[in-house]
Amino acid sequence: MKVRTRIAPSPTGDPHVGTAYIALFNWAFATRHGGEFILRLEDTDAARSTKASEQKIFSALRWLGISWVEGPDLGGPHGAYRQSERLPIYRRHVDQLVANGDAFPCFCTTERLDAMRQAQQAKGETTRYDGHCQNLSAEEVAARIQAGESHVIRMRVPTEGVCAFDDLLRGRIEIPWSQVDMQVLLKADGFPTYHLAVVVDDYLMEITHVLRGEEWINSVPKHQLLYRYFGWDMPAHAHLPLLRNPDHSKLSKRKNPTSINYYRDIGILPEALLNYLGMMGWSMPDEREIFSARDMAEHFELSRISLGGPVFDLDKLSWLNGQYLRALSPDAFGDRIGRWMLNRDKLNALIPLIQQRTGRLDDLAPQLDYLLGNRRLPDAAAFSSNKAPAAQIIDHTLRSLETLGAWERNAIFNVCKSLADHLGLKLKDFLQPLFLAISGREVSLPLFDSMVFLGSDVTRVRLREALDVIGVSKKAAKELEKNYSAFLAATRE
Ligand code: GLU
Repeated sequence: MKVRTRIAPSPTGDPHVGTAYIALFNWAFATRHGGEFILRLEDTDAARSTKASEQKIFSALRWLGISWVEGPDLGGPHGAYRQSERLPIYRRHVDQLVANGDAFPCFCTTERLDAMRQAQQAKGETTRYDGHCQNLSAEEVAARIQAGESHVIRMRVPTEGVCAFDDLLRGRIEIPWSQVDMQVLLKADGFPTYHLAVVVDDYLMEITHVLRGEEWINSVPKHQLLYRYFGWDMPAHAHLPLLRNPDHSKLSKRKNPTSINYYRDIGILPEALLNYLGMMGWSMPDEREIFSARDMAEHFELSRISLGGPVFDLDKLSWLNGQYLRALSPDAFGDRIGRWMLNRDKLNALIPLIQQRTGRLDDLAPQLDYLLGNRRLPDAAAFSSNKAPAAQIIDHTLRSLETLGAWERNAIFNVCKSLADHLGLKLKDFLQPLFLAISGREVSLPLFDSMVFLGSDVTRVRLREALDVIGVSKKAAKELEKNYSAFLAATRE
């Protein structure tokens, strides 16, 4: 049996370091066993999935040096590799489950489901589907479908007993069936849910080992049951420990930049980041800290994974990166700097900003410092001396930029302009705290162009850091959220 593993990201945002971590471990496991590692996109959340995010995932993983042998970009014998292109396959499989009585159409309205959940909550029960449509007669089902009534397909779940399964890292796990919901498999719009798609795809794509994040452990009973209903063997599963912030909470962008591109943009080398991700819960048999992905694959054993939450710590990563940088030959070091920032492409992007503002060429360095390197963030007092409410401006700008499709000057300008209008501020006053957050100064090169040059990841981290410096209490954060919702509601009108 050929070992086959996969990474199955959802293209709904920035390429996440957690995705790279899971990808690396899957790649290392497959490579160790002479197997194959593939990439599949789980884009069943049609509203949030974007082509831009797909491209970012491909290029971030490529930049890291992780390669796959089949995928949406490469094709392959098990395609399509985008779930949105496999709808007839899921439909066929769900029809089979319904025909066998393992799944059933459910016509419950959102209102009914909401009322059901509220009643369950009031009684202190776990909220789960109550089986209302489970035993409708075949005639009634046929008639309602015929009449075009909107419905989903749910899976049947045993009411008693315990689901037991083996995790390659955690041993035997038991979850009572009473905790497992009658999961929706196919949504009213014909899209599968994750649970149906993951089982069908892992089987049809001949995946032998599923290495994924520990947040999926509680989903295994549903998946195991689906494998049983289909009469298929289930692949082996290993649930990897989640990456943590230094305070041991789940890695989140509020506390740690999570986009792979952020690390690229601040000058972390791909091999250093990959090495660091390899240290997340895993170690080389000789405990050495500097190792390549190839070294890792050569020595990879699941038994060397420790389950205590691995901490992703920027200081430790910077230290490791320094080891890599200092070990380069002077020539290679020069090449890396060139590839990173000091190159003609970057200069071309800066020329329109600086040419008309330059009297002597040695004016350049002081103007460009915050674009070519990190800026020194002023203290909270600098922000509070502004006429405008700095925390609110930065918070709202950050929220708007998080959802901005294309990272372009005009789009960023429009975000700021409509927020300034909403807050009744002159654009100049509105921008003042943003200048401080981005450049560390009251006056710098044009703000929107600076943001474009820095890229969305670095820009957003700088805004987040400014909020940290200003200090936003929990109560104030709630208030900001409320105000931002009001802004969104007003702009939708
Ligand atoms: N789309 C899921 C995710 O991004 C994949 C989970 C899995 O590997 O089964 O986390």
